[in-house]
Amino acid sequence: MSDEHDLPEEPGMINIRNLSIRCGNCDTYQTLSHYQRRDDWNVYTFECENDVCDPAGTRTLLEVPVELDEFAHRDPTWHGGKVHAGADHADD
Ligand SMILES: [Zn+2]
Repeated sequence: MSDEHDLPEEPGMINIRNLSIRCGNCDTYQTLSHYQRRDDWNVYTFECENDVCDPAGTRTLLEVPVELDEFAHRDPTWHGGKVHAGADHADD
């Protein structure tokens, strides 16, 4: 018996660009509208961009563990710019 078997494999990175977020109400793909860091999670907000849905009622919050978030790693500008200057302001 070895604990090694319980260790996870090297975790794969998650790139939200590889995901599709589709609305269960209007059946169309939602658009990334907002990004927010919450503790060890990157929280992406997706909303419907049409007149069918009220974004407030159908928006999706997608949470990705920071260490697995390939998208945020590759697009560090997401941390700055639009996001209100706050806690995690790292500039290179
Ligand atoms: Zn919708």
